[in-house]
Amino acid sequence: MMTKGTVKGIVSNLVTVEADGPVLQNEICHILTGNTRLMAEVIKINGNNAYVQVYESTRGLKVGEAAEFSGHMLEVTLGPGMLSRNYDGLQNDLDKMEGTFLRRGEYTFPLDEQKKWNFRPLAHAGDTVKAGSWLGETEENAQPHKIMAPFALDGSYTVTHIAGAGEYTVRDTIAVLTDAAGNDINVCMMQQWPVRRAITAYREKPRPFRLLETGVRIIDTFNPVTEGGTGFIPGPFGTGKTVLQHAISKQAEADIVIIAACGERANEVVEIFAEFPHLEDSRTGRKLMERTIIIANTSNMPVAAREASVYTAMTIGEYYRSMGLKVLLMADSTSRWAQALREMSNRLEELPGPDAFPMDLSAIISNFYGRAGYVVLDNGCTGSITFIGTVSPAGGNLKEPVTENTKKVARCFFALEQDRADKKRYPAVNPIDSYSKYLEYPEFQEYIAQRIAPDWTEKVNELKTRMQRGKEIAEQINILGDDGVPVDYHITFWKSELIDFVLLQQDAFDKTDAVTSIERQQYMLELVIRICRTEFTFNTFAEVMDHFKKRINICKQMNYSEFGSERFKTFEKEVV
Ligand code: ADP
Ligand code: MG
Repeated sequence: MMTKGTVKGIVSNLVTVEADGPVLQNEICHILTGNTRLMAEVIKINGNNAYVQVYESTRGLKVGEAAEFSGHMLEVTLGPGMLSRNYDGLQNDLDKMEGTFLRRGEYTFPLDEQKKWNFRPLAHAGDTVKAGSWLGETEENAQPHKIMAPFALDGSYTVTHIAGAGEYTVRDTIAVLTDAAGNDINVCMMQQWPVRRAITAYREKPRPFRLLETGVRIIDTFNPVTEGGTGFIPGPFGTGKTVLQHAISKQAEADIVIIAACGERANEVVEIFAEFPHLEDSRTGRKLMERTIIIANTSNMPVAAREASVYTAMTIGEYYRSMGLKVLLMADSTSRWAQALREMSNRLEELPGPDAFPMDLSAIISNFYGRAGYVVLDNGCTGSITFIGTVSPAGGNLKEPVTENTKKVARCFFALEQDRADKKRYPAVNPIDSYSKYLEYPEFQEYIAQRIAPDWTEKVNELKTRMQRGKEIAEQINILGDDGVPVDYHITFWKSELIDFVLLQQDAFDKTDAVTSIERQQYMLELVIRICRTEFTFNTFAEVMDHFKKRINICKQMNYSEFGSERFKTFEKEVV
């Protein structure tokens, strides 16, 4: 029996509904107003009263109007045909409508129901399967796409029927599974899953340890991300968050890219829609959009839809990870998501935590980051979700709650700095404050020792120490003047400038410099280390400056030349 209810109170998007039966926390309900069905989510229950957050405008809604509880939580539909799409936070297809916004009460089906997919069975009749088992395979934008047993299955099932190779729609039955009691379930190529619950159809979730190459030197060399790792990019407006995110999306060794554009200004979301379809995929030479899904909400959409969008993105990521794929999930910006949480909690008149964010902000952020990761599936294959979020702290204040709580859980920290951006030292990632905790993982160090070089981690740490010393000396020179410190100090300072200009700074708009392979990063690191370890004797600081400026110039020209080309080799000879 479906629970029904009556609207008793309305405060903006928060509606109090008196229910005539049982209601679940986070259950979806619909409010019937005029000819419109407004979708809402239960966020608090008190006796017979359910407090529901409506996903769209409650304009014109009246006390006394009817509500229907659906009996299920907010779900996404998972199946082939999601790649290349632009969805909103409720998985409405934004391309199916005029403009970027749906009319009120309008919802679209997220997949193509007519399209026939070429299905190939992987399981056989008689096989024992469980949640997430691969039953078959199709192709989505030239990528293999596994058809999996429903994630909601409990225990083992026997395959009693499996469809032969052929063309099927997402609603056609492709398998019949039978449980021990003899109950059959029909399986098709799509399934539903509640977004707030993690898909855990895997055997184990070890700590991530494989390098995820991004081609960005300040990341790969200095603060590496792992396959299934987490990181975040805080930075004030104009410091290069978007440029860095695009570079990572384009270049990272990922099979699937999911962009959650949550609640940044409307024009920025429109920008993503305008830019992404044109981005070239440096891995395939085709369009990046072919393996990308965009989940977009702007700040003028109701907060509840904005809040849901990151979960929708994560759940879609988990679906592709269960196929044994490497997923890269980028969220821009998680601050807007946290603001949505704050607005909702304030309307509920909950006891607020720091800066009026909900008391459990820390747990919410850590649960979310916890869903990323590297997994070993039941069939032994591996998959991953690497999650990188931007944070836009008001006034660049890194002590605010969202930044602080994110810092506790994200393993990489890429702090974009106003001062570096002003000096055009791009990417403006602060070389001293930024870090990657993976550098400390023994399993990662071992992986890197084999993949790149046995002493790689040590050398990276040496360069970091040199950057730190260079910064300290720069401060002294600032106070005491060029002649106030020994010439040796200038040498130390200029060695750190060499590291900065040659390894850290990278031109995202130069075809060659933008993407640096790990082999090339290793080569340049060795070259820079060699110069740094050389003992120089100079008489004046002017001589020091002159010597290093020349070398920096040559090394920069190397960065702009094809690796190993004649031109590259000419510079190579000049520098040593
Ligand atoms: P944000 O998203 O933080 O507001 P953007 O990513 O839009 O900032 O960057 C602002 C500008 O900074 C860019 O338009 C570009 O001119 C410059 N910029 C940022 N990163 C780089 C880079 N790696 N190389 C060259 N220019 C950059
Ligand atoms: Mg931006």
